[in-house]
Amino acid sequence: MKLPLRGGCQCGEVRYEVTKQPLTLYTCHCTTCQQQSSSAFGMSMLVERDGFRFLKGEVAAFAIPTESKSNKLGLFCGKCGTRIANDTEGRPALSLKAGTLDERARLRPVGHIWTRSAQAWMTFDENALTYEKAPDDSYYALMERWAAQEHAS
Ligand SMILES: [Zn+2]
Ligand SMILES: [Zn+2]
Repeated sequence: MKLPLRGGCQCGEVRYEVTKQPLTLYTCHCTTCQQQSSSAFGMSMLVERDGFRFLKGEVAAFAIPTESKSNKLGLFCGKCGTRIANDTEGRPALSLKAGTLDERARLRPVGHIWTRSAQAWMTFDENALTYEKAPDDSYYALMERWAAQEHAS
């Protein structure tokens, strides 16, 4: 993708940029993502923490309840509430909410996770990677598939 990628919240207060190539892009159909996005699924772009920065705006954080002990923060605009990213302690990458990118018309997720809780009308591209639950390979296959897709485009 052409760097930097830029994006922001709905009201325009918070702006950010991504300066390193994203690691992968997938959708998540878990019930938490449905609730958080107030929609059918979440779209996550994994971006390395040192390749992401906020440019402006007041970013608020919400401690997301998790079953594991790791701290997971939801980062959102303090003014309009748009969720920008989820940041899990100890992970090298942030989960950027890809719908906040300025250039989002051509985003093509390479896989779909937690399909067992996907809405009944949802269909998936047969070439995409699909997972009933969370991938158990640390997202390795999703990252490989993304690299191949980027290489081909
Ligand atoms: Zn905002
Ligand atoms: Zn999810």
